[in-house]
Amino acid sequence: MLLDDVKKILSKYPLCDNCLGRQFGGLARGVTNKERGYALKLALTLEAHMVSRRGDSKGEALLKILASNGGHMPAANVVGGEVKKKHCYLCGDMLAEIQGYAKEVAKSLGEYNFNNFLIGVKIAGEVAEREDRLRSEFAIEYGESLKMECSREIGKEVSRLTGKEVEFNRPDIVVTVDLPDPKIHVRSMPLYILGRYRKMVRGIPQSRWDCVHCGGKGCEVCHGTGKIYPVSVEEIITGPVLAATSGISTKFHGAGREDVDAIVTGNGRPFVVEVKEAKNRNPDLKALEATINESGEGRVEVTKLMFSDKKTVRSLKERAKIAEKTYRALVETDSKITKRDLARLEKSFNGCLINQYTPKRVLHRRADKLRLKRVYEMLARKIGDKRIELVVRCQGGLYVKELISGDEGRTKPSVSDALGFGARCIELDVTSVNEATER
Ligand SMILES: [Zn+2]
Ligand SMILES: [Zn+2]
Repeated sequence: MLLDDVKKILSKYPLCDNCLGRQFGGLARGVTNKERGYALKLALTLEAHMVSRRGDSKGEALLKILASNGGHMPAANVVGGEVKKKHCYLCGDMLAEIQGYAKEVAKSLGEYNFNNFLIGVKIAGEVAEREDRLRSEFAIEYGESLKMECSREIGKEVSRLTGKEVEFNRPDIVVTVDLPDPKIHVRSMPLYILGRYRKMVRGIPQSRWDCVHCGGKGCEVCHGTGKIYPVSVEEIITGPVLAATSGISTKFHGAGREDVDAIVTGNGRPFVVEVKEAKNRNPDLKALEATINESGEGRVEVTKLMFSDKKTVRSLKERAKIAEKTYRALVETDSKITKRDLARLEKSFNGCLINQYTPKRVLHRRADKLRLKRVYEMLARKIGDKRIELVVRCQGGLYVKELISGDEGRTKPSVSDALGFGARCIELDVTSVNEATER
């Protein structure tokens, strides 16, 4: 019988109400372990009192055991005289301190602006071992772990103190509490902000390029900046983001990248900024957008900032490899351009499949491989005798400069091939990046 088991356990090991109740945590819904433990002790007290009233000394003995147990001790009122209360064998009365731990946690969350959190508890090895041993000794099958109880109870109390919800799947903040000597560690999970950028001037790389001479430390060649280019799209955007979120660092994820000398117009290129250890997880995105655009000084502009997630970063990068893009290219040719040349270009590249080996100019940092990319549409317009403007709508990942020059036969077919004489791209703009930015 249940009460016989409880009697055996308590006779050997003093337990607080929580720790006793937890051994039967899988039984009865909608009650706390503390209530379970109290109810079991109370039931035993009634029985012991009854036995003792009949004059059986066993009753008195049991009442004394119950009275010495940690927690509520309903039996203490029945037994006369002083009863020495024992510490809980399992938790060492740690569970009586839950409110104190929760207060500490709430205090360390004070400097964060967040929406939800999760508590993770680590219990010292010897405490967990004691519980394991007790369970095998008494063949306990319906127990819940101490760790579970502590996480849940601290979570409930922190929620009450902060007014924020516990979130299991994607918490803003994860708090680890080491017990029984409380050590609290707060971790703000990566914060993701999605948007699109336009780059209105040439000569700005997407991300910071470290100086090749000093590797970023700063030297004479780079005038102590450690960079090849004074500023990048990444730096213009992430500076204000870091300030608004009070994070410690950022990571910039672009949906593909353009050349340093290419501009990005139209709807802009999607990007996600990942902020590490953001203290403010609820920055005003409209205000942030305005700040970035102000500090961009007409060089870089962002739109449509919204909160995002890790999954979006992955799909952004995957889709960038294939998603459709539109370019405007200014092309210089070796011979004069005729109307027939223009018509030939438009016709031969309409829906054309391109075989492209990694361009020679990026071979030093990219593996040499063949890629098959489709040009959906090409529009050609004469600008001067030896100058044309091309609008190229194609699959992402196609190197457009090489599509024009042919890259010494590494890209086939090419604009140069189709014309029968040399052609070079002298200006390139990304005018549209068509990517789903939804989750
Ligand atoms: Zn206990
Ligand atoms: Zn340098």
